[in-house]
Amino acid sequence: MSITDTLLFETTRATTSRRSQINFDDLKFGQEFADHMFVAYYNDGKWETPKIVPYGDLSLSPTTSAIHYGQSCFEGLKAYKQKSGEIVVWRPYENLARINTSAARLCMPAVPEEFFIGGIQQLISLDADWVPTQAGSSLYIRPFLFAADSQIGIRASSTYYFIICTGPVGAYYNEPVRVRVEEHYSRAMPGGTGYAKAAGNYAGALYPTMLAQKEGFHQIIWTDSSEHKYIEEAGTMNVIFNIGGTIVTSPLGDTILKGVTRDSVLTLARKQGTPVEERKISVHELVAALEAGILLDAIGVGTAATFAPIKEMEILGTRYILPDYSPLSQDLRQQMEGIRTGTLPDSLGWLFKV
Ligand SMILES: *Cc1c(COP(=O)(O)O)cnc(C)c1O
Repeated sequence: MSITDTLLFETTRATTSRRSQINFDDLKFGQEFADHMFVAYYNDGKWETPKIVPYGDLSLSPTTSAIHYGQSCFEGLKAYKQKSGEIVVWRPYENLARINTSAARLCMPAVPEEFFIGGIQQLISLDADWVPTQAGSSLYIRPFLFAADSQIGIRASSTYYFIICTGPVGAYYNEPVRVRVEEHYSRAMPGGTGYAKAAGNYAGALYPTMLAQKEGFHQIIWTDSSEHKYIEEAGTMNVIFNIGGTIVTSPLGDTILKGVTRDSVLTLARKQGTPVEERKISVHELVAALEAGILLDAIGVGTAATFAPIKEMEILGTRYILPDYSPLSQDLRQQMEGIRTGTLPDSLGWLFKV
């Protein structure tokens, strides 16, 4: 029993469900939203009693601070329906910790555990029939926190909304991923907000990503902002390399988002005795590994895309084609999948049962 087992948020139920209008066999990413949402309001130094209400539009002032100055952050996690019918959420306490890291960096109040975990739990219980069962599908959970003061003038807001929406999603990428290593633009800099899931980070990434997409790439792999010499991560995923059987990935720091999926893959690799190195990887090292044929995998890891093999990588103007999944990455992918679906034991206690 935890505190959340006994807490019940006041609920206004949707009068009709939109569920029957959704084609669960053809889900896009982030287009459909379940019937209910969790809403909490912060005012005067404290959180007011949250509510669960039908998913719908908010009424906001045109001068809402978050819109003008970007004092806003979010999270993303997933719930899965196992064969037994049980609904599980992947490591939600990690996302709770991270939204509060983001909130602190942006001068926002911390989100209480009973809102984040309890809100997800009650919301999903209510919208349980929105959790898809189709292979590769899941219920995406989007908690977010934003400044709600109506004001012109740059200062931290005194009012905030914390909201959780959910929606059924299919695969994020339905083809192998093509990326370009970025050598001009930057996503994050030392001392900046790269380690926070701050809304503005994603706005700033749109333009360079659009330029890459025009040339047929899905995503950018960012490099350090001072020299563009070391690999950092992709726009919404961390990147893990398999160099000659060793799992290598960039170390965490204030320019890299601390991905839950990254941690899960590294933990499973270490557990089975695979060498894992969290260290700087230079662009030149990658080129050398590609040319020597020892770059066995490059994988994007993140909640949305889960485990996305990178098929093509442009580095310093040269396009490299990567081999298919190595047995190592195939195995790690299957372990993640097995824990999620319940065919492998959850020996690390990662699943939160709704
Ligand atoms: C969310 C995100 C990730 C992946 O984090 P997960 O917790 O694995 O979903 C990686 N990089 C960036 C920039 C992100 O926003």
